[in-house]
Amino acid sequence: MTSVWLRNPLGILADNAGGGVVVRDGRVAALIPAGGSPDLRDVQVFDASNHVIIPGLINTHHHFYQTLTRANAAAMNQPLFGWLNALYPVWARLTPEALDAAATVALSELLLSGCTTTTDHHYVFPSGLEDAIDIEIAAAQRLGIRVTLTRGSMNRSQKDGGLPPDSIVQDEDTILADSDRLIARYHEAGADAKVQIALAPCSPFSVTASLMRSSAALAERTGVGLHTHLAETEDENRFCQETLGYPGRRFIRRRRRFIARWWRRRRLAR
Ligand SMILES: [Zn+2]
Repeated sequence: MTSVWLRNPLGILADNAGGGVVVRDGRVAALIPAGGSPDLRDVQVFDASNHVIIPGLINTHHHFYQTLTRANAAAMNQPLFGWLNALYPVWARLTPEALDAAATVALSELLLSGCTTTTDHHYVFPSGLEDAIDIEIAAAQRLGIRVTLTRGSMNRSQKDGGLPPDSIVQDEDTILADSDRLIARYHEAGADAKVQIALAPCSPFSVTASLMRSSAALAERTGVGLHTHLAETEDENRFCQETLGYPGRRFIRRRRRFIARWWRRRRLAR
């Protein structure tokens, strides 16, 4: 395969590479010192003199579908639960076409800002949107970005004392069956993986302890990662104390199999 020399960048985050880098088969094959040059047979040259070379950024938490509701007036300046309650009814009408548009916008924004690997936490599955993760994977493959997409989930709705409306949650069996299907169909192992699947029960106020346990067991059996929201706001802390009788952090600490495989978001984005 042809190599590409990114020649003489304006700046580069690597020692002794003022002359740039040679990329071959998707990997950095050589660092070129200032004033140096590689063996130029079969090497294409890209003039990087107006560019800065940095490693691709990695985004560890996102909700692609929310790109469509960033400017919803009813949700503006609300605390977490008020914000969610304003937007759940809108998200309940999410269609496959709308999710494809949202994922395309989100992934394009990420690529344009230097991100080459991203995750997404998609947990809204209204009727008609059962293939949400398949839609996101198709968008990622179309744009060429590397992804770890989580099969998110909610199974504790208002009728069971949870926060989300009944229309956007699924039962535990449906969630686990679809998680299993997605892992078998799409999950790639190894350093060159372009698409990976992880499991992401949404939060203590929207999933049951049983779903947390079964998601952790499935992740352990199939070798995929786990992700969730935890202790995001005082709303959630109050909910856990009043409904579960203990703080949200203990909800997770009691499930050590979950912790062993998880990464979680910090206070970067909802
Ligand atoms: Zn989030």
